[in-house]
Amino acid sequence: MTGKDLPLEGRCKCGAVHYRVLAAPTYVGNCHCDDCRRATGGASVPWIGARPEDFEVVRGDIREFESSPGILRGFCGTCGSSLTFRGEGWDEVGITIASLDNPNAITPQSNVFLKEKLHWLLINEDMRNYDGFPS
Ligand SMILES: [Zn+2]
Ligand SMILES: [Zn+2]
Repeated sequence: MTGKDLPLEGRCKCGAVHYRVLAAPTYVGNCHCDDCRRATGGASVPWIGARPEDFEVVRGDIREFESSPGILRGFCGTCGSSLTFRGEGWDEVGITIASLDNPNAITPQSNVFLKEKLHWLLINEDMRNYDGFPS
């Protein structure tokens, strides 16, 4: 991505929630964990990270669900689109790339939790690939 892509803007499916990311992502990764899969219905979930001060909701409210102790997954209370991830031990807010207005502005650079990957998903071997979290 380039500076002209900023701020990154995104929204849920129904449009009740709109958000903005003011700075370049702190990380870009594609998660294959079971929790992300169940929470979103996606085979894997591409995320960007943003410092909390660089993430703002500009319309509506994000509802949150505690998917495991201390971990909050954010979604639209009307349409259910998965939008965010935050919680204890995480300095950043995670934001789903798929909810960006221009998801092609961002290319994931890594895959995490490949030990939980669906067997039929093809993985780009040129990316940084990790069985769990990057160590
Ligand atoms: Zn919605
Ligand atoms: Zn995950």
